[in-house]
Amino acid sequence: MELDVRQTVDWMVKANEKVQEQKDYLSQLDRAIGDGDHGINMARGFQEIANTLPNEEFEEVSDVLKKTATIVMSKVGGASGPLYGTAFLKMSMESKGSNVDGETFEKMVGAAVEGLKQRGKAKEGEKTMIDVWSPVLDVLKEVSEINGEKIREAAHTAMEATKDMVATKGRAAYLKERSKDHLDPGSVSSYYLFEALAETLEK
Ligand code: ADP
Ligand code: MG
Ligand code: MG
Repeated sequence: MELDVRQTVDWMVKANEKVQEQKDYLSQLDRAIGDGDHGINMARGFQEIANTLPNEEFEEVSDVLKKTATIVMSKVGGASGPLYGTAFLKMSMESKGSNVDGETFEKMVGAAVEGLKQRGKAKEGEKTMIDVWSPVLDVLKEVSEINGEKIREAAHTAMEATKDMVATKGRAAYLKERSKDHLDPGSVSSYYLFEALAETLEK
């Protein structure tokens, strides 16, 4: 099973639907341990993605992800814009010239995780979106195909696990111990992204 151009566009359009539905919730999560704009940031960027991608012609999956990265970088803003932008750009670069089968997708997410770590100067356990992306990479290493349901499950468990973490990166780090008992907003939006992928692959 390979991810093709049309599915990649559908994936991003579906991700936008989720972000729009959960816009207020994402901002509410960010109000608790940040500055309350994560839903607004994501909704602005992903709306532009959904408006743009379906009206363009793409040669390969890499090109869809490159366009996505460009829009995210210019429209999302905050800390999450450059971070998501890096993740999509790394996935684009890693898939250039390839069909996206399970092996390639694992490499793409691997490159995204490396990019997020570099860009965010962060690692696992610091209560950031890396805490969802990295467990998704782990599950991709275990399976040979792009298994949407396994990805969704892993992302969901990982997103919930950020609740018990103390933030040491991003705005939430200012709260120290008080950042505990709250979900990390960027991990929740990352979960929506992988949930959207799972739903796209179901079809
Ligand atoms: P801002 O904090 O600038 O307002 P957002 O609210 O849009 O930006 O995004 C916040 C999210 O970005 C956090 O919930 C976290 O997941 C992610 N994040 C913040 N800083 C980092 C970092 N240094 N490394 C990785 N992810 C980070
Ligand atoms: Mg914020
Ligand atoms: Mg902000």
